[in-house]
Amino acid sequence: MSSPDITDLERQAVLDVLNTPILSIGPRIQAFEEAVAHYAGTKHAVSVSSGTAGLHLCIHAANVSDNDFVLTTPFSFVASSNAILFERAIPIFVDVDPITGNIDPTLVEEVVSDLMSGVESAKKWLPRKGWNIENGAQPIPLKAIIPVDVFGQPADMDPITSVANKYQIPVIEDSCEAIGAEYHDRKAGTLGDMGIFAFYPNKQMTTGEGGIIITNDDAAAEKMRALRNQGRVQGDTWLSHKFLGYNYRIDEMSAALGEVQLSRIDELLEKRDRVANWYNERLANITGIEIPTIVDSTTRMSWFVYVVRFENHVNRDKLINSLREQGIPARPYFSPIHLQPYMVDRFGYQPGDFPITEVLGSQGLALPYSGVMTEEQVDYVCDTLINSIR
Ligand SMILES: *Cc1c(COP(=O)(O)O)cnc(C)c1O
Repeated sequence: MSSPDITDLERQAVLDVLNTPILSIGPRIQAFEEAVAHYAGTKHAVSVSSGTAGLHLCIHAANVSDNDFVLTTPFSFVASSNAILFERAIPIFVDVDPITGNIDPTLVEEVVSDLMSGVESAKKWLPRKGWNIENGAQPIPLKAIIPVDVFGQPADMDPITSVANKYQIPVIEDSCEAIGAEYHDRKAGTLGDMGIFAFYPNKQMTTGEGGIIITNDDAAAEKMRALRNQGRVQGDTWLSHKFLGYNYRIDEMSAALGEVQLSRIDELLEKRDRVANWYNERLANITGIEIPTIVDSTTRMSWFVYVVRFENHVNRDKLINSLREQGIPARPYFSPIHLQPYMVDRFGYQPGDFPITEVLGSQGLALPYSGVMTEEQVDYVCDTLINSIR
């Protein structure tokens, strides 16, 4: 489905680390963090072992815990919701904009205002079961909002941060799919109080496994640095631990790889732009297929995946099989989070609860995509797709 873009520069950087005795907690991690903070224009960058680990630490830094509520989107990769469950808090899902697949800001404003008015007006937004509001708390404890920049297009963040600021609710921007994207000329990941980039090999840039949190919040950054390193704070020795922490550290080889990838980020994003444009040109006027829409607020798209939508008369499953028989992998994208078996068990969700998410989930198909694809490969995918649809 995808392929990383690795050159001799990356290979040499990793090899250079392996020629030293320092494979973790060393100079490459520090340099990588400085480079990411400089790129994003934030005070802090805290590297971690995955995007999911980054989300989890942000949840901690926002003081989310038992029976708290966090508002987020059901149209995402599961990690953005799982991080809420890790701390025994309850996700409140809000449906998405049908064009971008990003959380609907108008609904966010409405839900937040209803939650702030107390349990009775909040109830219609809460899951059928699986939550417990202590002593009928008023307003209900909404501790964070997690918008996701889906497929590399920033969420409509201004109305979201404005309602969040009004009630002093931290905003954690899941930019794991959107490094380099811009919203009204501001960088994705910097639009809330904390943001996360992820570096799994299918992302725009990779460290193998890895992720990084960016923030201007000194206290949050310090807490997250401690929590990723077994709860040690600055000055603690190897066996003294102020907090219950984790091992969420990235290693030196990965950080060295990340430094080189980040130094090539404009090139990487341009190559991805080129491949997305090849797809757009070939698929723009095909009956039954809708190509991705970039909205005006997205002043720079950072293509993460190339997802087309099919009109209802197209049988997606048959199409996937037909593509597979001709050597082309393709995947439905995303599968709604609220309908994952563990979410249904725990919160009683049913089909129909988030209709736009479900429609997008049933119509979307991710095609093979990466910055190293050739025009001939895109031709082959598109020709095969078009013939199969007819
Ligand atoms: C990739 C991704 C993550 C984090 O992924 P890791 O594999 O843990 O690095 C989180 N949220 C979204 C939306 C993602 O696409």
